[in-house]
Amino acid sequence: MQWTELLCCPRCRSALASSGSQYGCTNDDCTLATQPFLSAGDQPVLIDFETSIFHPDAFMDGRGASPPRDDTGRGFASTMRAVIWGGKNRIAPRIAEDLSARLKGRRPRAKLLVIGGGAIGAGVEKLYDGSIDITGMDVYASPHTRFVGDAHAIPLRDESVDAVWIQAVLEHVLEPSLVAEEIHRVLKPGGFIYADTPFIQQVHEGAFDFTRFTLSGHRWLLRDFEEIESGAVGGAGTALGQSIRYTFRALGLGDKIATALTLPFFWLRFLDPLMARRPNADAAAGVFFFGQKTGRGIGARDMVDYYERQTAAPMRLRNRARQTLPIGSPVPAQRV
Ligand SMILES: [Zn+2]
Repeated sequence: MQWTELLCCPRCRSALASSGSQYGCTNDDCTLATQPFLSAGDQPVLIDFETSIFHPDAFMDGRGASPPRDDTGRGFASTMRAVIWGGKNRIAPRIAEDLSARLKGRRPRAKLLVIGGGAIGAGVEKLYDGSIDITGMDVYASPHTRFVGDAHAIPLRDESVDAVWIQAVLEHVLEPSLVAEEIHRVLKPGGFIYADTPFIQQVHEGAFDFTRFTLSGHRWLLRDFEEIESGAVGGAGTALGQSIRYTFRALGLGDKIATALTLPFFWLRFLDPLMARRPNADAAAGVFFFGQKTGRGIGARDMVDYYERQTAAPMRLRNRARQTLPIGSPVPAQRV
C-alpha cells in the first residue's frame, strides 16, 4: 500500500478522499469533513487544529508551522557544540543499523514512520538507503515528509506501519502519553519503536519545549511496549558540559560567548564511556528506548525492578558485549 492510502482523518480516523493534492474526510458526521484539509506545497496538512498547539494561519500560505530545522551541523554554534559534546548521539546510529537489519528484505517493503522527520537525523542515514519504505511526518512539509501532522493525532490508519522512529520529539509535545498511545495504535503487531528523549537538558526550541524524562519515566511512558534495549544517550559528562554553557548563557552573555567560554570543558564528554550504567542514567543528557509491540509491556509493580536491574558495568564494556550478539536475534526475555 502507498502511504497516501494509509492516511486517515486526524479527528475521526475515517478514510480520506483525494482529488489532486486536496484531501478531505469522507465521514459526513465529522466536523472536519465540511472543507478540504489545508496543504503545504503538495502535501496535505492533516492536523486537527481545534486540539493542536499549531494554528492554521501558519499554513495558510502553504508554509509549515515551524521553519525547517538546520540539522546539517555546519553552523558556528553546531560546530562548537560538536567540539564540546562530541555532538553525536552514539546510540541512534547503532539502533538504526539494527532496525534496518530487522526490517529489510520484507515484501512489500516495511514501512517506517519518522515522527519529527522533516530533517534526517544525524547518523541515521542507514534507514534511508531505500530498503525500507520510509516517510517523515512533521509540522512542516519537507522533501522527507509526505504529509504534515501532529503526533497527538497521527493521521494514519490503525496497524499501518512496521516501525516508528521518534528522536528528540517527545519533549516537544504537550501530551507525551497521548503520542505514545498513537504510536502504539499505528504500529502493526510486532512493530518496532525507537524513541530518544532529553533528560538533563535545558530548554531548546523555545516555546515548544515542555517535558523531560528519567530513564524510568521514559520506560513508563512507553509501558505498552516490550523492551529490546534501553538506557542513557549522552552521559553525565555531556550533560554537565551543556549545563555549563547554559549557565554562562543565563548570565546574559549570548550563545556564541557562552559556547566559547565552555570550550575549556570539552573533555567532560570523554568521561561518558567510563560511567557506570545506573548512576550515569541518573544524570545523563538523554534516555532511549527500543522496543516492540508484542502485547507484553511493563506493569506498575515491575518498575522498581526495571530501575534496580540497570547493571553497574561501564557503558563501554556493555556495548562491547552487545556487539557480539547477532543482529536480528530474538527479543531477549525480560524479567517482567
Ligand atoms: Zn473526520
